[in-house]
Amino acid sequence: MLCICGSKIESKNCCSQFVSNDAIAQTPVALMRSRYFAFAHSATDYLVSSHAQSTRTSALAQELVDWCAVTHWAKLVVHSFDEQNLSDSLEKNCFTDTQEQLPTVCFSAYYFYQNEFYVMKELSRFIVEQGQWRYLDGESLEHINFGKIGLNKPCPCKSGNKFKRCCYKAR
Ligand SMILES: [Zn+2]
Ligand SMILES: [Zn+2]
Repeated sequence: MLCICGSKIESKNCCSQFVSNDAIAQTPVALMRSRYFAFAHSATDYLVSSHAQSTRTSALAQELVDWCAVTHWAKLVVHSFDEQNLSDSLEKNCFTDTQEQLPTVCFSAYYFYQNEFYVMKELSRFIVEQGQWRYLDGESLEHINFGKIGLNKPCPCKSGNKFKRCCYKAR
């Protein structure tokens, strides 16, 4: 089965090995993809352990449990650091954080919340802690509620497919 992170790689060779702690993500983008996978599978332990200790609050675990319980994740689009399709990278200037020179990944994640369809676009920052990449924080660049979408309408993820043949199937 191809990984739900959109990498076009088998799940077992992509995010699932990281979320099951059988392997360690070697790059910020691999970690970011695996965190999307973990959101979609409510793997909140992994979401906590892959979060930088310096920005990990005591409420984080419960917030993640609550958030995963009410969301259904449909699609991930990586805008920068996308090895599969660099020409699609419209956000090349997102690559590095200019202030602290931390690696960043710019992505859009499409999801359902209370039967309405959303996209959140974020610029995430990553640091190394204890020899592993971890998510430090993120700047929200865009957050759109598309509302309830007609099944025959074009999918908002710009795939060119009808909604019913695209992200709707992930509900
Ligand atoms: Zn993956
Ligand atoms: Zn779609």
